[in-house]
Amino acid sequence: MALEFRNLTKQFATNSGAVLTAIRDVTFTVNTGEFVSVVGPSGCGKSTLLSMTAGLYQPTSGEVLVSGEPVNGPNDHVGFMLQKDLLLPWRNIVSNIEFGLESRPVSKAERRERAMFELRRCHLDGFEHQYPYQLSGGMRQRAALARTLAIDPEIILLDEPFSALDAQTKLLLQNSFAETIAESGKTTLLITHDLAEAVLMSDRIFVLSERPGQIVAEIRVDLPNRNHPLKRRMMPEVADYASQLFRHLKLEEKAI
Ligand code: ADP
Ligand code: MG
Repeated sequence: MALEFRNLTKQFATNSGAVLTAIRDVTFTVNTGEFVSVVGPSGCGKSTLLSMTAGLYQPTSGEVLVSGEPVNGPNDHVGFMLQKDLLLPWRNIVSNIEFGLESRPVSKAERRERAMFELRRCHLDGFEHQYPYQLSGGMRQRAALARTLAIDPEIILLDEPFSALDAQTKLLLQNSFAETIAESGKTTLLITHDLAEAVLMSDRIFVLSERPGQIVAEIRVDLPNRNHPLKRRMMPEVADYASQLFRHLKLEEKAI
């Protein structure tokens, strides 16, 4: 398996000195090449889970394993992409995509070649010399994905990458990401609060409870076209899966 969480718990000290448990005893695995989503209420520790996978936080107890090796800090095996694209405004697109390769023993020519390959794969041909402010929100997210893929990580972590986009851009971008990720064969963990998005894009979905986040359900999405969410969207079963998630999140009880 590519990514494994074993009895993962994370606590933070609050300003008042109390202990806040963000997630508790989370155990699951993501297999090589699989696309897994995690859904759960706001504040249940989803981003914390990804930060630990990227090695930005140490777990309080339990462990995160990438290809069987414990994650002890930031490393090249994991690429992390957030809602905010974090592109550097003073660099053009190709140079932004190259950025992560600059700290590696890769020649300038190879760096450019790899960046251009990912740029084309993310459908940004012709935009390599533009600056981030010249691109739409959706294009900037594609550039951020290209930058993540350029370092060739084994695992891709996506933390609500589509949540700041308008509804149509979101659908198109989900499709373009799904296609690119399926083609790259990367193991992917997506955090989202969009239940339909989880169904459209995933092989499996884990539902977390309210904080402290604990797994309350695992749902296997037994539908074709994982690389084509727009096609999946036309399938009647999608609504049934979304209702299952809805029930596990107890959204009805919370309605006011
Ligand atoms: P989610 O992404 O599911 O909305 P987060 O993982 O961002 O939730 O946060 C989970 C809980 O942990 C929240 O209550 C948040 O305030 C707290 N938290 C997250 N990061 C820190 C930190 N660095 N220090 C203290 N508390 C934190
Ligand atoms: Mg979050």
